[in-house]
Amino acid sequence: MIPGARLILLGRQGAGKGTQCVRLSRQFVVPHISTGDMLRAAEREGSELGVMAKRVMEEGGLVGDEIMVGLIRERLSQPDAVGRGYILDGFPRTVPQAVALDELTAELPLDVVIDLDVPRELVLNRLSARRVCRDCGTNYVSSGVERLPWICEVCGGDVVRRDDDTPEAIMHRLDLYDKMTAPLIEYYQRGGRLTIIDGVATADEVSRRITAAVETARANR
Ligand code: AMP
Repeated sequence: MIPGARLILLGRQGAGKGTQCVRLSRQFVVPHISTGDMLRAAEREGSELGVMAKRVMEEGGLVGDEIMVGLIRERLSQPDAVGRGYILDGFPRTVPQAVALDELTAELPLDVVIDLDVPRELVLNRLSARRVCRDCGTNYVSSGVERLPWICEVCGGDVVRRDDDTPEAIMHRLDLYDKMTAPLIEYYQRGGRLTIIDGVATADEVSRRITAAVETARANR
């Protein structure tokens, strides 16, 4: 049987976390839990949470810790996550979220926290060109000369720029990352749980590096 995994992927927006999480989720047969996807789903449903999250996301801000911890507590208690594990993408984003996660996972601790390291200048270019299918979430890269409407090759949905991928919101999110999320790197480093992976490589090479890091972390446990 393929062993499950309990992983966190940290990294700037546009570092390639989404792509790697999809691969890791297939490899370890565990759910890919993206808090950004959960909030966008709530937005589509038009729930109270969704309405609030839409406003915060458009400004490139962060949804409150209490709400986010509540969402994750509920998701991690589902049978798939309890039984096999998970890959967390976009959570934790602040130190209080990380502290709450440690409490939630006290009995089944994380295997390893991966920091996918890609410099700010590089992700800035990637995010400006990023387009995403509104329906299935497949990522595309814009060359700037596409014919519109742009139709998704996978599901036929509309390929659009994410509402929060405007230049102002991108800069704001990257600033916030440096301010709020980068301290997480120190938090996990102190606990000896962090592996930094150079994310400037092909997707296949980055996947190989992450798999090796997970195996090393398990062997050292
Ligand atoms: P993402 O798809 O991970 O880039 O998330 C999109 C947006 O959702 C972020 O810019 C935040 O506004 C919000 N968000 C996602 N995860 C979190 C979190 N853990 N804490 C606070 N806000 C979050």
